[in-house]
Amino acid sequence: MPIRSQATNATPAPDTYYRAGLTTAGLGQGALVGRTQARVCVIGGGFAGVNTALGLVERGVEDVVLLEAHEIGFGASGRNGGFVFGGFSRDEQALLNQLGTARARTLYAGTTQAVESIRQRIDRHAIDCDRTEAGVIWANWFRDPEVLRSRKRLLSKHYGVDWQWLAQAQLREQVRSERYHDGLFEPKAFHFHPLKYARGIATAACALGLTIHEHSPAVSLQRDRGVWRITTPTGEVEAETVVLACGGYLAGLRRPVDAAVLPIATYVMVTEPLGARIDEIMQTRAAVYDTRFAFDYYRPLPDTRLLWGGRISVLQRSPESVERLLYRDMLKVFPQLRGVHIEHAWSGLMSYARHQMPQIGRIDDELWLAQAFGGHGVAPTTYAGDLVASAIAEGDERWREFADYGLVSALKPAGFVGAQLSYWWAGLKDACKDLAERQG
Ligand SMILES: Cc1cc2nc3c(=O)[nH]c(=O)nc-3n(C[C@H](O)[C@H](O)[C@H](O)COP(=O)(O)OP(=O)(O)OC[C@H]3O[C@@H](n4cnc5c(N)ncnc54)[C@H](O)[C@@H]3O)c2cc1C
Repeated sequence: MPIRSQATNATPAPDTYYRAGLTTAGLGQGALVGRTQARVCVIGGGFAGVNTALGLVERGVEDVVLLEAHEIGFGASGRNGGFVFGGFSRDEQALLNQLGTARARTLYAGTTQAVESIRQRIDRHAIDCDRTEAGVIWANWFRDPEVLRSRKRLLSKHYGVDWQWLAQAQLREQVRSERYHDGLFEPKAFHFHPLKYARGIATAACALGLTIHEHSPAVSLQRDRGVWRITTPTGEVEAETVVLACGGYLAGLRRPVDAAVLPIATYVMVTEPLGARIDEIMQTRAAVYDTRFAFDYYRPLPDTRLLWGGRISVLQRSPESVERLLYRDMLKVFPQLRGVHIEHAWSGLMSYARHQMPQIGRIDDELWLAQAFGGHGVAPTTYAGDLVASAIAEGDERWREFADYGLVSALKPAGFVGAQLSYWWAGLKDACKDLAERQG
C-alpha cells in the first residue's frame, strides 16, 4: 500500500543570501507533465540526488530523470554553511570503536576523496561558486588543549590525516577574537557557495543527458509488474530503478524511510558587506567552527560579508528570531561587530539518523536510498552519489561498507524530545566547563 507524500510545490524557497545572488532562472525542463519512462528516477534535488544523477550520466547511463519538489538546492544543500571538509556527523572515535581501524579509515577516506572530487568537478565544469581555498580552522573555545591534541593524534594515527596545530598567538593573529585559545587547521578543506555549486553540477549533468523536473514533488511510489511508478501532481514516471534522496524534507513515499530520520533545524545569517572591517576580525579567509557541542560556524564571503551559523533545534524559526539568536552569539566572539546589520537569516533542515551516519544502499528491488547526512553532508553526499551511481551502473558493491548504518527508527515523536534535551544538556555541560575555566 503506497503512502502519499506531504511534499508540495507550494512552499516558497527561503530568502537566503545564496538565492538572492542568483542571476539565472530555473533548471531543467520545468514541471513534469504527462507520462515518461526512465532507466533511473532520482527523487530529491539536493546534493545526494544531484550527485547520484551526475554519477549515473557520467557512467553513460541513459534516460535518467530527477524529480525535485521545489528547486534544485531548495533543501539543506542550497542553504548550508558552505564548509567542504572530510568526515561525517558521527565523530571519528565512535567510528573507530564501531568499525575498527581499516573499515573506519575506508569510510573516512571516501569523504576526503570527495572533497578532492568536488574540487575537480568545479574545475572540470568551470562552476562559478566562490570557491575559497583557505582551509578550515577548528578553534578551541576552552583553555584545556587536550580535546585538540587527542583529535589531532587520532586523525593522524588512524586516518592518515594531518591537521596543523595553531598556537593561541597564531590563531589570534588570524581570528581577532579573545574567545579562543588554540586551534587546529585543516588545510585541505575549503568553502564555497553551495547553491551555485548544486546548480553547477545539475547543469553539468543535464549536459550529459540528465532530465530535471523542478516543481515536481513525487507524491506516490508503487511497484507494478517489475517497474516503479512515481506520480507527481501532473505526471508519472515509469522507472526500472528509483533513488530516494530527500534529506530532512522527507519524501513521504515509504514509511520506514521517513521514520528513520529526524529532521533537525540549524540557522544561518549573513551580515551586510563589512568592507575593511572584515580584516579587523579575520586576517585569514579560512572558515571557522569551534570545539563546543553546539558550535558556531562562520566564514568570510568574497564580498566582505560574514556568514554566521549555529545552533540546533527541532524548530524552524522565523528569520527575525534566527537573527536575534545568532547576533548574540556573534557578539560573544566578535564584540567589534556591534551595530552591524544583518541582511539575511534563515533555517534549514538536516536529516539525522540515530546512529548519526548516512543511510546509503539498496532497500528493496531496484530501490536505493541516500539520506541522513546530518550537519556534515557536503562531502559525504558526494561520496554517496558515487557509491549509488556505480552500484546501479556497474554493480559496484562498495555501498555495503555502510551496511552497519541502516534504517533504524528515529523514535519519533519521542526522538525529537530526546534530541532537543541532549542538545540542551551538552550545551549546559559546555557552559559549565566554560564558567569553571573562567573562575579557575
Ligand atoms: C543550515 C545548514 C548548514 C549546514 N552546513 C553544512 C556545512 O557547512 N558543511 C557540510 O558539509 N554540511 C552542512 N550541512 C549539512 C548538509 O547541507 C546536508 O547534509 C546535505 O546538504 C544533505 O543533502 P541531501 O541531498 O541529503 O538533502 P537536501 O539538500 O535537503 O535535499 C533534499 C531534497 O529533496 C526534495 N524532496 C523532498 N521530498 C521530495 C519529494 N517527495 N519529491 C521530490 N523532491 C523531494 C527537497 O525539496 C530537497 O530539495 C548544513 C545543513 C544546514 C541545514
